[in-house]
Amino acid sequence: MTIVKIETLPDMIYGTRPAHKHTSSVSGLSWQCNSPYCEEMVIPHPSEEGGLPPIIQGREPWKGR
Ligand SMILES: [Zn+2]
Repeated sequence: MTIVKIETLPDMIYGTRPAHKHTSSVSGLSWQCNSPYCEEMVIPHPSEEGGLPPIIQGREPWKGR
């Protein structure tokens, strides 16, 4: 039996912008993200831990559709 220790959460990468690294304030795990609008790097993971989803470049809510 092999125990795989999961140390990262799913990445939030859209397109080819440079990524940055977030650290979860819940679990301490990390993930990569390339939203240009992130201000906080220590947050709950968007899909795994109930955090807010990152804003995707080109899909900014304030620009409409
Ligand atoms: Zn981010």
